[in-house]
Amino acid sequence: MGFEFTPAKRLQALPPYVFARLDELKAKAREQGLDLIDLGMGNPDGFAPQPVVDAAVEALKVGENHGYPPFEGTGSFRRAIARWYHRRYGVNLSPDSEALPLIGSKEGLTHLALAYIDPGDLVLVPSPAYPAHFRGPLIAGAQLHRMVLKPEQDWLIDLSAIPEHLAQQAKILYFNYPSNPTTAVAPREFFEEIVAFARHYSILLVHDLCYAELAFDGYQPTSLLEIPGAKELSVEFHTLSKTYSMAGWRVGFVVGNSKIIQGLRTLKTNLDYGIFSAVQAAAETALELPDSYVEQAQQRYQQRRDFLVEGLRNLGWNLEKPKATMYLWVRCPKGMSSTDFALDTLQRTGVVVTPGNAFGEAGEGYVRISLIAERDRLQEVLNRFQQAGIRYE
Ligand SMILES: *Cc1c(COP(=O)(O)O)cnc(C)c1O
Repeated sequence: MGFEFTPAKRLQALPPYVFARLDELKAKAREQGLDLIDLGMGNPDGFAPQPVVDAAVEALKVGENHGYPPFEGTGSFRRAIARWYHRRYGVNLSPDSEALPLIGSKEGLTHLALAYIDPGDLVLVPSPAYPAHFRGPLIAGAQLHRMVLKPEQDWLIDLSAIPEHLAQQAKILYFNYPSNPTTAVAPREFFEEIVAFARHYSILLVHDLCYAELAFDGYQPTSLLEIPGAKELSVEFHTLSKTYSMAGWRVGFVVGNSKIIQGLRTLKTNLDYGIFSAVQAAAETALELPDSYVEQAQQRYQQRRDFLVEGLRNLGWNLEKPKATMYLWVRCPKGMSSTDFALDTLQRTGVVVTPGNAFGEAGEGYVRISLIAERDRLQEVLNRFQQAGIRYE
């Protein structure tokens, strides 16, 4: 007889992680010799920019970078964040108190929940949403109110649908535009409304702007901190993972209200030692790349978007081109659930897409397709769909 140790209740509160299940099925398909095309994860293909790699190599040659980094991140990276933020959004940030480097934004989003949520506290989260936005609060013991997003409302949060007593009670609201998974963008007026709402009910706003730069057709995403008064009650998360193809480097940052950031920093000094200094040097270089780099990245995703949207339209989908992100959010054919459609597609074509219910129940009826392969592979996806008769009727 072995010992039996039950994981903490906070783990039992979590719904199963759909990506883990998908991983098992992918492994099986590979064993059967299928040539998988994995458009399931939000993992950019390709390399970080060469100057970023060079900066990391140089930083490796500096002895002091091999020790523990400062808890609060290097001053030089924090100053680069403040300069970048000012250049993009015209807002001043104190590099000492209003910017904090993170081991990727997922780390910060989740730890912010632990820093601010007591068991039973009410948290407002969209559904569908990026999993860290509801899993972090669940780990912290939050009671969730799910703000259901609907296609007929352009996937925007309907603040007027939140019952008054829940708005009164809520401590934190998480949101994310441009949105993963829905690819929706929010107009500036929406940001103004949500700030007014949060002020009225004293709610801490958490905005995830990880697609700050992956926007197309001249669209420029809004930062929450551009809205007057927002900095008094909010923080905004950013990442180097997407724009700069640095997902494996684990680096992001949070900007915003200094007191809120201080709470997160206090928690983190108890949990981690921050980011390898060489990675911070590289991230700093990325934020200082000329705009032409960002434009190239935008073009790469925009071309893939155009190609795949047009191909899917030929297969019967009535699909609009998203203005931002690296995804398509695609309706399942009638009568098929998200899981059925994703599994059926995987088994019949070797193409991996993510079932929408991985992002919460309100994602049911959709799958998310990541634009993380070159055009010849996307062409292959379309060929296989055509051959297998996968289309939208
Ligand atoms: C990819 C993604 C992130 C990035 O996470 P990192 O931990 O910084 O790599 C955060 N939020 C959303 C919505 C994402 O899609």
